[in-house]
Amino acid sequence: MEIAMSIPSAEEQLKFITNIQRILDEGSFVATYKFALLMSLADYAIKSGNDSADHCQLTTHDIAESFVEYYWRQAIPYAHHKGTVRVLKQGTGLQPVVISRIIELHQQFQGSLAAVRKNHRVWRTLLSKVASTIGQMPLWKLQMVGRTFIPFLYDQHGSGNLINLKHGVVFCFRRFYDLIRNLVQSTWIRHVRMLNVEIIGESDLAEFLFGSERSVLPGLRAMLRDIQANECFYCNTQLREGGDIDHFVPWSRYPLDLGHNFVLAHATCNRSKRAFLAAPCHLENWCKRNQLHGNILRQEFDTLRINHNLEATEKIVVWLYSQAEVSGASLWLRKDDVTPIDLSWRNILVV
Ligand SMILES: [Zn+2]
Repeated sequence: MEIAMSIPSAEEQLKFITNIQRILDEGSFVATYKFALLMSLADYAIKSGNDSADHCQLTTHDIAESFVEYYWRQAIPYAHHKGTVRVLKQGTGLQPVVISRIIELHQQFQGSLAAVRKNHRVWRTLLSKVASTIGQMPLWKLQMVGRTFIPFLYDQHGSGNLINLKHGVVFCFRRFYDLIRNLVQSTWIRHVRMLNVEIIGESDLAEFLFGSERSVLPGLRAMLRDIQANECFYCNTQLREGGDIDHFVPWSRYPLDLGHNFVLAHATCNRSKRAFLAAPCHLENWCKRNQLHGNILRQEFDTLRINHNLEATEKIVVWLYSQAEVSGASLWLRKDDVTPIDLSWRNILVV
């Protein structure tokens, strides 16, 4: 395959971003499905694609899981300071059907998506329902702006579940993931605020809708402390306090809550690392840990009902480091010390 042929020109890339912006600014939003769809497509491009992917065919089933994940955390009842507690509305009128179902499952499975996944019958039924709803609803409306149809993401073949991503779409989603996520999230937040104006006010909706889910994981902390011999993952000195559960891939770079992304670190190391990717020495330790303690990690994640998929996690890590390489980013070495990225990460991870 001629890789060079498949990379969209600078002009095409700009057009792509402009069209995303148009969808968000001018599209009509009865429900928030289109936002979840757009993000699910972007996530699919990260997890399954590569920069040279040209045309790419998938079905609504392939993105149903990601679609569910977006709504899962948003199906937690929102507590207003004046005492109202309810799940936020995601559409005008009644709660959209997929979200109603997710709310029911949220209650039935005490908020554990991992538990739903383990119940194969319920999980499969949910994914089928979501896949067919995506096909009926947002898939064929996403590319409408006002009365104009701008099919820049995929072609429309009547109503159906097949998606043929167009030339350059996977590349652009991968290149501009951060930007697109910020655009979609801020528009999504604006719409949810509008739909729930009576209970939201000025509170921090962003953290509620898209923040991290690491909150109550005491078992995870104990397990990580064991594996790390009570030492900070980054500086290898003793953890005196409990230590912070840190996302190895920073949450702000990619919202990755799969088990292998967690390490235990000093609060100071964690704060200093912030949104940086870790330097190759840390990346190497992370890979070694996943290999050395692979079985324990898998078992404990299952027991703690933490979703995990090492292969998917590594794909995301590879993507993030290749993006960092393209943009010449700095990597975090230790407190107050960063280092420019070079090619050495490629020897650690199989690219
Ligand atoms: Zn430390």
